[in-house]
Amino acid sequence: AQSHGGNQYQFYQAEMKPISVETLAIETDLRRAIVADQFQVLYQPQIDLKTGEIIGAEALIRWHHPERGLMSPAQFIPIAEESDLIIALGEWVLHTACSQGKKWHELGLEPIKIAVNLSARQFTQIHLKPRLLKILQSTGFNPKYLELEVTESVLVQHVSSTIQIMNDLKALGIQISVDDFGTGYSSLIYLKQFPFDTLKIDQRFVRNLTADSRDAAITLAIIQMAHSLNLKVIAEGVETDAELAVLRQNQCDAIQGYLFSRPIPACEFEVFLNTHRTL
Ligand code: C2E
Ligand code: CA
Ligand code: CA
Ligand code: CA
Repeated sequence: AQSHGGNQYQFYQAEMKPISVETLAIETDLRRAIVADQFQVLYQPQIDLKTGEIIGAEALIRWHHPERGLMSPAQFIPIAEESDLIIALGEWVLHTACSQGKKWHELGLEPIKIAVNLSARQFTQIHLKPRLLKILQSTGFNPKYLELEVTESVLVQHVSSTIQIMNDLKALGIQISVDDFGTGYSSLIYLKQFPFDTLKIDQRFVRNLTADSRDAAITLAIIQMAHSLNLKVIAEGVETDAELAVLRQNQCDAIQGYLFSRPIPACEFEVFLNTHRTL
C-alpha cells in the first residue's frame, strides 16, 4: 500500500489490509535477513530489437526464507516499504548489482546496463545521492551503466523536487527509466518535464497485445509518444513470438521477458554474455 497522506492510508489499512500477524512476522524476519545473507539478486536480460543482443540486465530480488522457502518480492517488498527497511534492502540490492556489473566489466564482457528498481521511499530519502556515490565508489561501477527504475508513484509526488533529484542523479551519469508505464496516475503533461531516458511498457499491455486491438493501439501510441520525446522504449513481460513481432513492427527499442529468459542467477547470466547469446 502506498501512502497518499495520513488519513487515507489509515482508512485503507483499516478497511482493506489490516496489519496481520503474518505481516508482522515477515517484518521481524526481514530485519535479520540481510545479515543472515538470505537475499539473492537475479538478473533478467534486456534485448535490443535491432541487434538482438543483450544490452542490459534488470536486478530482481529474491528471499530464501528459512521456513517459508523462496519468496517473491511481491510478498515482502510492500512490507519493507511500510517501514525504513526498504532503505537498507534497497541499498543491499544496489551494492550487489553494481559489484556484479563491475565484475562483468572486469571480465572483459560486452558492457551492459544494470537496471535496479527503486521504491518511492528510497527515491525521496535525503541521503540517496551520497549513498549512491558511496556504492559507486566502493564497487568501482561506472555510473553510466547504472539505470534506476522508478514507478509513476514517484512522479506524482513533489514535481519540482523530484526533477531536481533526477537531474542530480543524471549529472552523475546515471540513467533513469519509468517502470510500469501507463498503469499509474501520472499525467502525460508531466512526462516531458522529467529527465528520463527510458519508458518501460508494463506487461499488462503486452499481455493482450495480440488478442486485444485496443492494447495494441495503446502500445503503439506509447512507443510513438516516447520516441517523439526522445525516450527509448522497452517492453516487459514479452512471452511469445507474436508479441515480439507486434513490438518489432511498432519500432519498440528493446524487450524483456520469458521469451528470451526468466530472471536468472548471475552465473547463468554470465554464460549468456560469454557465449554472446542473441535473440
Ligand atoms: P517489475 O519491476 O515490474 O519487474 C518485472 C516483473 O515481471 C518481475 O517479477 C519479473 O520476474 C516478471 N517478468 C519478467 N518477464 C516476464 C514474463 O515474460 N512474464 C511474466 N509473467 N512475468 C515476467 P518479480 O521478479 O517477481 O518482481 C516483482 C516486482 O517486485 C517488480 O516488478 C518490482 O516492482 C519489485 N521488485 C523486485 N526486485 C526489487 C528490488 O530490488 N527493489 C524494489 N524496490 N522492488 C523490487
Ligand atoms: Ca522494474
Ligand atoms: Ca511491471
Ligand atoms: Ca514494478
